[in-house]
Amino acid sequence: MPALIMYPGIIYGPVKSRRLGQSLGVNLLPVGRKVCSFNCVYCECGDTTELIEQARDEQGRRTTFPTVEQVRTEIAAALQHYPALDAITFAGHGEPSLHPQFPEVVQATREVRDQYQPQAKVGVLTSAALLQRPRPRAGIDLCDLKMMKLDAGDEVTFQQIDRPAANVRLQPIIEELTKMARQEAIIIQTCLIDGPVGTAQNIHGKPWDALVEAIGTIKPIVVHLYPIDRPTPEPWVQKVAHEVVMERAREIAARTGVPVEPYA
Ligand code: SF4
Repeated sequence: MPALIMYPGIIYGPVKSRRLGQSLGVNLLPVGRKVCSFNCVYCECGDTTELIEQARDEQGRRTTFPTVEQVRTEIAAALQHYPALDAITFAGHGEPSLHPQFPEVVQATREVRDQYQPQAKVGVLTSAALLQRPRPRAGIDLCDLKMMKLDAGDEVTFQQIDRPAANVRLQPIIEELTKMARQEAIIIQTCLIDGPVGTAQNIHGKPWDALVEAIGTIKPIVVHLYPIDRPTPEPWVQKVAHEVVMERAREIAARTGVPVEPYA
């Protein structure tokens, strides 16, 4: 399956987002290659081309990421070009915290943000798979908005939906998210999917109950709940209907006490 969305450079948007307002997108991933710790069945960027959990690929080669100065220069130019941004968000076609200098990139971004648009929040959309690694974690800690993916509460569903790199397991991620949420505001982002009998899903039965339980354990400040809204690499992935997303949002809130913002 070819990539569905690939960003041609570092800056994209600004994107008008219900979650973030006017948000400038920042893609730290190499041009033309989707580098991620996950290969989610619903990923709008298509199949992951380098499935890794450190900033090296499986052959030990360092992948080609933009330099800190390139990122700083492009964000500074964008901040002067696009007025009144609400957010500068690291996302792109893959996992931003895989950038080997992610803390330095975030620090440089904060500096140009303070210079040109101090009202804008610096945010990250992350798989949360690298939270136990010091440098990805240091970069994430420097962000104002920490949006952490959680699509499953049990290992089987996690492996089926997020299809992580070889050594990535769910339980340590949940434990790390739980510790983090005790100290600061984190946002959980959950994509609800359905599929034919025998395929992965996270809205019924044990996968659903485990997901709700994990959210109740982590206790984030809020859960962003959303269905797919673009073509997916796996054709069997089914979009969850608006009314089902709304109903699941109510159920999470009722069972965990955690506020939920549905984006159905
Ligand atoms: S973590 Fe994000 S970028 Fe990576 S495969 Fe999943 S949806 Fe795509």
